[in-house]
Amino acid sequence: MKPLNLVLLGPPGAGKGTQAERLREDFEIPYFATGDILRAAVRDATDLGRKAQAYMDRGELVPDELVCDLIMERLDDPDARDGFLLDGFPRTVRQAEVLDDALAARDRELTAVLVIDVPDDEVVRRLSGRRICVKNQHVYHVEFDPPKNPDVCDQDGSRLIQRDDDKPETIRRRLEVYHRETEPLVAWYEQRGLLRRFDGTRSPDEVHRHIRATLATLRLEAEL
Ligand code: AMP
Repeated sequence: MKPLNLVLLGPPGAGKGTQAERLREDFEIPYFATGDILRAAVRDATDLGRKAQAYMDRGELVPDELVCDLIMERLDDPDARDGFLLDGFPRTVRQAEVLDDALAARDRELTAVLVIDVPDDEVVRRLSGRRICVKNQHVYHVEFDPPKNPDVCDQDGSRLIQRDDDKPETIRRRLEVYHRETEPLVAWYEQRGLLRRFDGTRSPDEVHRHIRATLATLRLEAEL
């Protein structure tokens, strides 16, 4: 079967991580999220983490040279031979060019770019209510998925906190950065015939069904 080389695009809080979890089970492809990789580097206080942290806390993009290599290494992972799902990368046209060149050098290409659309006010509502536990990063939402006891994780009893980059001021900054730096990628990929759009205000199940059906069709077409 043809590989599924996918990019997930959309503003912060669009539900990309939720959809990625499901898609990687459906299609058995590895999932690489630059935000998760960078946060782990910050937690482990690696060289990369120390360099990236200030940018992340301010809601700004980490410089391209710090993120591009991270993803290039992942493309060579043997698990990624039959496809991959990228979340949070590319985030700028420059990064998209780097990805294109890297894939071409490996005689590969993107299958599709999945955009999940959500309006800004909904993003703010979703992200400002998000809480995560300090121990295992289990995710809750004060309005949509509240823990039994406020401030305590149901699953491991650890304290719940708000990520620095989920604070309202930082969310607004992340949205600005998204519109300025990342949204131009929508037109960029559309010109290349790779774009598929999904309505992220629908329920996670509906968005998932729609994406899964789209990918199944793409795969069928590729077989013909
Ligand atoms: P995310 O979890 O995808 O929202 O990413 C969290 C933060 O990590 C972002 O606000 C950026 O500071 C940084 N980051 C993640 N991916 C990238 C990327 N491709 N380029 C630059 N910065 C990134």
